[in-house]
Amino acid sequence: MTTFGDSTRCVHSGLPAPVPGEPLVPGPVFAAPYHLAVEGFEPGTDGYGRPDNATRRILETAIGDLEDGSCLAFSSGQAAITALLMTVLRPGDKVVIPSDGYYNTRALAASTFADLSVTVVEVPTAGPYPSFDGVRLVLIESPANPGLDEAPIAALAESALAAGALLAVDNTAATPLLQKPLILGADVVVASGTKALTGHSDLLIGYVATRDPELLAGMQRWRNLGGAIPSAFDCWLARRSLSTLALRLRQQGATGTALSTLLRSHPLVSDVRWAATAPGLVSFSLPSAAHVAAFLRASTLVAAATSFGGTHTSADRRHQWGDTVPAGFVRLSCGIEDTSDILTDISSALDAAAQV
Ligand SMILES: *Cc1c(COP(=O)(O)O)cnc(C)c1O
Repeated sequence: MTTFGDSTRCVHSGLPAPVPGEPLVPGPVFAAPYHLAVEGFEPGTDGYGRPDNATRRILETAIGDLEDGSCLAFSSGQAAITALLMTVLRPGDKVVIPSDGYYNTRALAASTFADLSVTVVEVPTAGPYPSFDGVRLVLIESPANPGLDEAPIAALAESALAAGALLAVDNTAATPLLQKPLILGADVVVASGTKALTGHSDLLIGYVATRDPELLAGMQRWRNLGGAIPSAFDCWLARRSLSTLALRLRQQGATGTALSTLLRSHPLVSDVRWAATAPGLVSFSLPSAAHVAAFLRASTLVAAATSFGGTHTSADRRHQWGDTVPAGFVRLSCGIEDTSDILTDISSALDAAAQV
């Protein structure tokens, strides 16, 4: 599939070759145990649902094609990040993580991994980055959630390689359509597919992708022993949703680009943040939490919701989750509604919030 463009791969990757009478898209394979050969288990056949599921393999082939590596799907983005950290880090190791990225990554490092005597160093996504000498793993997130700062992935890959550290990139916000960290030199991608990748606000899923066979085998072993597999039905929904990823990103990006311009000229709004690698997301600040509440109440189309990248436009006041951002900081995720409807709705809701 690597000779095809991304939209084509989103539709076709992972699906079986045409067979007359078979469906274009196979249904989910629901199986805990499979029938075994009466003589005993034959390696290479499906035996049990935790290690083996055909629907999950279809999804993994599709995501792996898009990331340009081999993919393993997990039950959530957090499960994928946990798999990477548990596979790579040992007591006494040092890990670099973003100080301004997804809060649960920080919480996981500061609790479980600090307890396991791993030294955790927090660095802002935009840098400056310290020397990676003595570092085992550098985990970056670009663009970072929720501030949308970007990290210089290719340059960091070079410094990590020179220092003998692994570089991992959380590719949740960009998706592999807008950023391919493995091609930029990263060793491994981790991501939540709960957000834009699947984009219908109806499932949680995560994945890792890498070209390093040893790392892949380690994370596969962890998944099998840790048990954090996604269900066959969620894998099937995810593969189905992937078909429209390019279309969804195009519409979300068109609205997000226009919205960032609108927000920059609105007197109630400050600190507008937008990144070309996740153009459907716009972060900005209103003067207070009360202004955000008034904005959400006055809006018809913007749902108050966490997560992002869905078909519905939504906004989240990140301070309520403990992000170190001002109380009026909003991460807004553009859906696939008509751009003009979203701009009109947000503009009038901001005007109403300005009366607070
Ligand atoms: C949501 C998110 C995660 C965690 O994903 P879940 O699917 O919710 O477990 C990890 N990284 C980033 C950047 C996220 O936005």
